[in-house]
Amino acid sequence: MVHLIGSHIDITERKQAEAELMQHRQHLEEQVALRTAELSSARDAAESANKAKSEFLASMSHELRTPLNAILGYSQLMGTDPSLSENIQDQAHEIEHAGKHLLLLVNDMIDLARIEAGKLDLTIETVSAKSVISASLGMVTSMAEKQGILLINECRLGHDESVSADPNRLTQVIINLLTNAIKYNRPQGTVRLTCTTCDDKLRISVTDTGSGIPAEKQERIFNAFDRLGRENGAVEGTGIGLIITKRIVEAMSGTIGFESTLNQGSTFWVELCLSN
Ligand code: ADP
Repeated sequence: MVHLIGSHIDITERKQAEAELMQHRQHLEEQVALRTAELSSARDAAESANKAKSEFLASMSHELRTPLNAILGYSQLMGTDPSLSENIQDQAHEIEHAGKHLLLLVNDMIDLARIEAGKLDLTIETVSAKSVISASLGMVTSMAEKQGILLINECRLGHDESVSADPNRLTQVIINLLTNAIKYNRPQGTVRLTCTTCDDKLRISVTDTGSGIPAEKQERIFNAFDRLGRENGAVEGTGIGLIITKRIVEAMSGTIGFESTLNQGSTFWVELCLSN
């Protein structure tokens, strides 16, 4: 004898729900695909606009440099020409001073534009940290002396302690940190350069005794053209030295950072891979 037990469930509603769910999913996938395409074309447009801007800046900067050098040359000649009155000579010095500032800005802009356009040529090699540091210190000695700032080299490195870096660019980085430490120092202040190693990294630190950077401004320190309110102060600058420095350090697989205490001073450091 055969017993049959059966049950009957109406699945119309479940099927309907499944179909609706499927529809929603399909709609969602379409939306995601649409948004992704929109985002990617917006990114492409932004990237090409940025590239065009950087290329424009790089070529314009070259056009600017040539006439500027003529202005500088002639103002220097006029400033020392004994046949001209003292007043005219003073005015020529003013032109020379302003021209030098403009040249500095143009040079920095070329550098930044080149970096932003991805055209930073680096030759990474094994570099003696000690020689780069003493070369950099040598380049800022007279500036420090003129401003009455004492430079102290506390790096105790041997000649065989090397880092992976582009020697010229690393020199530029250290000079920039030293220059800032001198510029933003107090009268009769000090600038201390120290080196520490940790695992496979070498940290080069530059400590000044300046006025420091207020906590609320610190997050803007690597912004291009942001002088943190010093635009009208006595210290000259372009506001792009640190962003250039950061880009160069990162291109050498290094890191950069700083600590600063108001009215006490700041320490800017870079960390690079040891290569021995
Ligand atoms: P610049 O010195 O040409 O203005 P930077 O990009 O080198 O440009 O620095 C940006 C700003 O950061 C400076 O204008 C200054 O306000 C601040 N800054 C940089 N270094 C120091 C420092 N060692 N101490 C205090 N402020 C600093």
